[in-house]
Amino acid sequence: MYTLPPLPYAYNALEPYIDEATMKIHHLKHHQTYVDKLNAALEPYPELQNKKLEELLENLAEVPEVIRTALRNHGGGHWNHSFFWQILAPTSSQGSTLGDKGRTLTEEIKKQFKDSALACFGSGWTWLIKKPNGQLTIINTANQDTPFAEGKPILGLDLWEHAYYLKYQNRRAEYIDAFFNYLTNNK
Ligand code: MN
Repeated sequence: MYTLPPLPYAYNALEPYIDEATMKIHHLKHHQTYVDKLNAALEPYPELQNKKLEELLENLAEVPEVIRTALRNHGGGHWNHSFFWQILAPTSSQGSTLGDKGRTLTEEIKKQFKDSALACFGSGWTWLIKKPNGQLTIINTANQDTPFAEGKPILGLDLWEHAYYLKYQNRRAEYIDAFFNYLTNNK
């Protein structure tokens, strides 16, 4: 069964860009809940428990209809958040998949990403994706839908209000700027 991956850095490691209280609630409460509900959905289906999460999410039409939505929402939530904690890892931490990319993101990519994130209506995510043909693209996904059908995710930003409301309230643009400032200064 799935477990909450430990945060590979301190809860205050992203201060002042992302505050400690938000990180604690986000990781220990929100992410834990996705894990718990994913496990609950899979509990009656031992044959699905050994499959890779990506495989289940890529083939939702093949899982029993009664758990399809739960798997999409909570399995997606688990996958998305696990990825998010990794890309936010400071360079010195283990588990960073981003390496020094934060510093090399072009202003044009940052602008396109920010425009897309501001346009994301309701709860969702914005992603920078490397498509199979090598092209970079920026997409939004709704709710906890995962991005990997489009290609290899390089960056993802959680745009649910739980990700920023304590510190930034309705100022989503400031949260997006803080995300890129953090990456630029710490990756
Ligand atoms: Mn979240």
